[in-house]
Amino acid sequence: ELAARLAEDTSAGALADGTPVALLANIGSPDDAERVAPAAVEGVGLFRTEVMFLDRTTAPTREEQAREYARVLRALGGRKVVVRTLDAGADKPLAFADQAEEENPALGVRGYRLVRTVPHLLDTQLAALADAARETGVEPWVMAPMVSTPAEARDFAAAARSHGLTTVGVMVEVPAAALRARAILAEVDFVSMGTNDLAQYTMATDRLCGALGDLIDRWQPAVLDLVAATAAAAGEAGKPAGVCGESAADPAMAVVLAGLGVTSLSMSATAVPAVRFALAAHTREQARAVADAALGAADATTAREAAVAAMDAEV
Ligand code: PEP
Ligand code: MG
Repeated sequence: ELAARLAEDTSAGALADGTPVALLANIGSPDDAERVAPAAVEGVGLFRTEVMFLDRTTAPTREEQAREYARVLRALGGRKVVVRTLDAGADKPLAFADQAEEENPALGVRGYRLVRTVPHLLDTQLAALADAARETGVEPWVMAPMVSTPAEARDFAAAARSHGLTTVGVMVEVPAAALRARAILAEVDFVSMGTNDLAQYTMATDRLCGALGDLIDRWQPAVLDLVAATAAAAGEAGKPAGVCGESAADPAMAVVLAGLGVTSLSMSATAVPAVRFALAAHTREQARAVADAALGAADATTAREAAVAAMDAEV
């Protein structure tokens, strides 16, 4: 019954004092877009475009891509859509990306780095996104994955803007990008933290390695420190900083993230109602105290316990 009541709540995400925290969905295809559109989400915070092309042997053409992107923009009917450019890598090989064998694929030519080896893939994708924007009259936000330096952010932004795309960002999922978030934010309009990879690279722990699950726990204080630094830099720059990794779907973590100043949370659409409910129970000041409790902990287990205890103390 509670679940039914939560599912009916279509209000925009916000803390108890009215501070907005946009609640967005993660998708991987136009079909996903059509599925999440009726849900009470404020848009799409992560469209993983590579998912559509995982079984392709030849590169999708500009026209093919534009058709798919237009379907997504139309399905969301003008709501915000953050499109991520192709993120091929160890866990997501694209046959047409001509990737060489690598000793350490997670540390190799992946994500935005493909611009070094197959630059036409990014150029064609940005052109297709611009086509879809013109055709639908909806301007997508575009962002690049696996950006490590301000120079990469600058080059990506220049490429996207040269195609007429106006809202350009990068993912912060490499510790170097989090540590230099201020310089990165000087180059782009927004950042979105990918906490799955940020945890993997911060903890030097393969995200697919179940035996090391405790090390890659989303509550690791070292990972929270990098999220805090990134959100603070975005706050100073007056630019949006979202989270689109699995962390965003955990209601207690969502309160921590909001307390750190994260402005949007993107997750599986089914996770949205519980996150909306948790956020609505805490003011910005209370969320900040919950975040401080987690950041002050010595390890992941006590960070989560401290955050949950601080939440319980406040409601
Ligand atoms: C992430 O790394 O947190 C992320 C959202 O991207 P992906 O899971 O697709 O690598
Ligand atoms: Mg990632």
